[in-house]
Amino acid sequence: MSVHIAPIACRDLVELVTDYLEGALPPEQHARFENHIAGCDGCTTYLEQMRETIRLTGTLSEQQISPAARAALLHAFRGWASG
Ligand SMILES: [Zn+2]
Repeated sequence: MSVHIAPIACRDLVELVTDYLEGALPPEQHARFENHIAGCDGCTTYLEQMRETIRLTGTLSEQQISPAARAALLHAFRGWASG
């Protein structure tokens, strides 16, 4: 397939990660997510942390991502994006 895959931003990945881990993303979004992960060390680390959280807690909900944690992540993402 030679379908163009539009890139997603790190902040978009944060929004998609729970659905990704639940297998709830539509195929196109799933492909975009993995395409981003393949080229982004920061998001790879984030994804691994989320997987570890699920492994430890057995569940994952939006409530487990506190506003403070999300803000810190988004701050970190900006750092990654700038180099
Ligand atoms: Zn990223």
